[in-house]
Amino acid sequence: MRMFVRAMQSSSHPILAQIVPIRRCNLDCAYCNEYDKTSSPVPLETMLQRVDRLAGLGTTIITLSGGEPTLHPDLDAIVRRIRVHGAIATLITNGLLLTPDRIRALNRAGLDYLQISIDNVAPDDVSKKSLRVLDRKLAWLAQYAEFGVTINSVLGAGIRNPEDAIVVGRRARELGFISTVGILHDHGGQLQPLAPDQRSVYERFRRLKTSLFSFAHFDHFQENIARGLPNDWHCRAGGRFLYVCEEGLVHYCSQQRGRPGIPLDQYTVDDIQREAARPKDCAPFCTISCVHQTAMLDEFREHPRETLNGILARRRTLDPHFRPPAVVGVLSWLFLNPRRRGLVGKLLVRAMRLKRS
Ligand code: SF4
Ligand code: SF4
Repeated sequence: MRMFVRAMQSSSHPILAQIVPIRRCNLDCAYCNEYDKTSSPVPLETMLQRVDRLAGLGTTIITLSGGEPTLHPDLDAIVRRIRVHGAIATLITNGLLLTPDRIRALNRAGLDYLQISIDNVAPDDVSKKSLRVLDRKLAWLAQYAEFGVTINSVLGAGIRNPEDAIVVGRRARELGFISTVGILHDHGGQLQPLAPDQRSVYERFRRLKTSLFSFAHFDHFQENIARGLPNDWHCRAGGRFLYVCEEGLVHYCSQQRGRPGIPLDQYTVDDIQREAARPKDCAPFCTISCVHQTAMLDEFREHPRETLNGILARRRTLDPHFRPPAVVGVLSWLFLNPRRRGLVGKLLVRAMRLKRS
């Protein structure tokens, strides 16, 4: 709700920033270009300055990624700093280092969400991010975590058995977690078309029961991607989404590093507005879901009625008997009328103690 209200409030601040506290990883997935085996953690003071800077730009969600962020010795202090600013703190991890004590420490630091991608049921030479390796960690998360947990299953080239995505998704839901499916991209963030058996698994995955308010519904771009078709959308990376590497430079995303490549401490609202508006030639076949999802929030901001109707229509194609819950009627009444939306927005900003932007 905090993310939604802030995203509706203005278009001149980042909705989501991914920041890398360490480039090193304790795994070596064959498809990955986001890790090394040698680099040191970014010093704590530097990380705290970067978090302060992102908060100063009005960033709503700050996600720690890597490499493997749980290798950073001061991870809890970084999470705590994000929360001190009232931003939402999230973590993308391979889960290997999670223990009951690690999870409790993340609770105390105030982590809001954690995401793990699981590539297969049994480890192979492509990936060791496997259900068999991680299942005990998932059970600990179910038992101890006070933050939300999302398990992402993966489809695409290099993933040997597409059926594994369904097994992982079912296990995630059994444990009470949110479960999503991602499609592997190449080293430019671009689509690798799905084979027919992978497409059929993707369709079945989408039919697994999901809350109407899950981010899993912000995935309609993936329907085209699964069919190998381009998407007509406006990527706002560099504005509404930022990727901050271990050197403190702002990039569009993990797969378009070097553009614009400006130091975070020199990044301004002008940069945000210019880069958000700039068309990206890599957009039609882009599979980077978090950037698509931030763009969907802007779509909702600009065309609320059409976006909400689209979500409900897609839900009905999966379940023809679906009836929207009463709360959808209340939200429509509150947000679809522009004057009422402005008033409700102001009240929510005050009630949630969010910074005006
Ligand atoms: S665990 Fe994540 S960062 Fe590490 S190699 Fe695999 S995909 Fe890359
Ligand atoms: S379209 Fe945007 S998110 Fe996708 S690869 Fe290009 S810059 Fe990155």
